[in-house]
Amino acid sequence: MTEPVTIPARPWQTATITEITVRTSRVKSFRMKPEQPFMFTAGQHAEVRLTAPDGYRAQRSYSISSPPEQMESFELTIERLDDGEVSPYFHDVAMVGDAVEVRGPLGGYFIWSVAAGGPLLLVGGGSGVAPLVSMVRHRMLSRALWVPIVLLFSARMWDEVIFREELFDYAAMNNGFQLVLAITREGARREGDYSRRIDGPIMSNALAMLPGPPSQVFVCGANAFCDTAATGAMMAGVPAGMIRTERYGV
Ligand SMILES: Cc1cc2nc3c(=O)[nH]c(=O)nc-3n(C[C@H](O)[C@H](O)[C@H](O)COP(=O)(O)OP(=O)(O)OC[C@H]3O[C@@H](n4cnc5c(N)ncnc54)[C@H](O)[C@@H]3O)c2cc1C
Repeated sequence: MTEPVTIPARPWQTATITEITVRTSRVKSFRMKPEQPFMFTAGQHAEVRLTAPDGYRAQRSYSISSPPEQMESFELTIERLDDGEVSPYFHDVAMVGDAVEVRGPLGGYFIWSVAAGGPLLLVGGGSGVAPLVSMVRHRMLSRALWVPIVLLFSARMWDEVIFREELFDYAAMNNGFQLVLAITREGARREGDYSRRIDGPIMSNALAMLPGPPSQVFVCGANAFCDTAATGAMMAGVPAGMIRTERYGV
């Protein structure tokens, strides 16, 4: 009989915020240097725990947006929810030099490394682009140009396209990475982009941009977004078993 594999619990440890980058008016990236650096795979996440003076604790998950090649520190990309507990703390209070409790890496399903190959369709909604950017950066840094990637990224407004200039730079390299934007509350500004929510036809068109059927489709964002994108991919002929979703909640 095969014994179940026990994955060791990740210990909590202290990480120092070494850099804060404003991405959009509602999103900032936080580079964290943990006391004990850890190796991770693109797509994984970390947990952050805040403790108030009275002992009250709040704990949240955040995808790692940096590539695994950068091991000394990792980047979390956090959207501010005005009525939230943890994300406003990061946006309004946290400063470079502050220490926070973290643990990771976590998640063994929503992961990709160049060894797994492609083609890949990545579909992100809002801050759900974070783990997908880790995958794209991983491809670029490891120069795995044999892996075609289409990133279909939905944002409400042009100015809410997180990592916009970096993603444009990658796409301009014309080396097998393509970016398609679906802007839901403004007109599209680039040829080939859309000014509506992601739907079945948009998914079909994005899949057709790949040189062959995808080996994996990664979808990340809010629950409803993941449902729509996954359904669209299946309607376009992608087997359900090839679609992996990471749901951020509501
Ligand atoms: C695996 C994973 C990875 C994630 N990665 C990212 C990431 O990379 N970037 C990112 O920005 N987010 C990410 N998230 C989401 C993140 O974990 C938090 O959920 C998010 O930051 C909100 O936390 P908060 O404390 O600010 O808000 P919360 O205090 O959790 O509130 C969230 C929302 O829920 C509402 N709410 C809270 N409590 C209730 C209640 N009892 N009833 C009804 N509504 C309620 C609030 O009004 C608010 O709008 C990820 C989630 C998961 C599961």
